[in-house]
Amino acid sequence: MGYVEKVRLLDYWKIQDTALQSEFPRSRLVLMVDRRLLVTNGPTVKLVEHKFADLRQKLGDYGLQFDMSNSCLLDAVEEDEEANLIPLFGTSIDAADPPEDSPISKKDVLKKLGDSLGGRFTDVRMAMLTIGEERQRNLLAKFQSLTKWAAVYRRCPKCAAALKMRTSKSGAECVTCQRVYYPTFSPVSITLITDPTNEHALLVRHRGSAGGVFTAVAGFAHSGESMAECARREIAEEVGIEVESIRSLNMSQPWPMPDSSLMVAHHAVAKMDQKISVCPDELETAQWFSREQVRQALDTTLADPFLKKLPRTLDDRQTLHYIPPVGAIAHQMISQWLNGKMERSSL
Ligand SMILES: [Zn+2]
Repeated sequence: MGYVEKVRLLDYWKIQDTALQSEFPRSRLVLMVDRRLLVTNGPTVKLVEHKFADLRQKLGDYGLQFDMSNSCLLDAVEEDEEANLIPLFGTSIDAADPPEDSPISKKDVLKKLGDSLGGRFTDVRMAMLTIGEERQRNLLAKFQSLTKWAAVYRRCPKCAAALKMRTSKSGAECVTCQRVYYPTFSPVSITLITDPTNEHALLVRHRGSAGGVFTAVAGFAHSGESMAECARREIAEEVGIEVESIRSLNMSQPWPMPDSSLMVAHHAVAKMDQKISVCPDELETAQWFSREQVRQALDTTLADPFLKKLPRTLDDRQTLHYIPPVGAIAHQMISQWLNGKMERSSL
């Protein structure tokens, strides 16, 4: 089945609750338990998909159940041998705590459950940062976003009546005024700043981020702003400098934490002789680094993709050791710059 047929089928399933419900027993599913995602073991991190019956049986062994109320429609995928499309759902369930006198902790139970399901449970942020395939990261972003949105969006913002959530979780209709609401997300600009010689990059350390990790400047777009205006303003607010030019990199990434956003990548050029003054509420530090310094941080990150050797001391935390892992758009932007794929911007 071609792409057009697929998106039209997905659109039909999104709206037609009865049709989607009848597909549920032959669907495939990816799973979160206690908001932790089931991923494959080993160095290549992927989502683990299960057939409906298989998942129902294996969760049943642990006294766990799922249904359509805690599932959202992620995609249409091909059934094993045939070319028929079936839904891929994300299902998010909570595991009950073991009794207080139980010799087995919940962590042990989830470890065993993960083993029986052919994977392990990890937090969503780490999964987003380490899943190698873009399609899978975007499915996870959708899964997390729709799950959170459906849990929060319960009443009509206009008339306060109850909302009827679609089976797909792609929309909800007010039972009284019939308005339809759709999952919300916020556009964010993320910008790699380089100097006019293109030999240096300005990277920042966010307050509260892991020690030694530096990244590009990012921030939410305000109403009435283009993405380029957002990027320019965020740079002025966060590091206190003006840029000479700014352009879109034609790259974007849905990012589900803390709330749903769509990161849109930009490249800006700024002179290095400007005084950097960081916004202390958001940033710990911002510094220019040479290509060699950034390449070293990229190599360290690729050699330690789960960031297990993060620096502990205060001084070391403020030194460039890592860039964000491979799943972050900042990683892709920095690595493209190092590989010469990001030419000088022109205004
Ligand atoms: Zn209403």
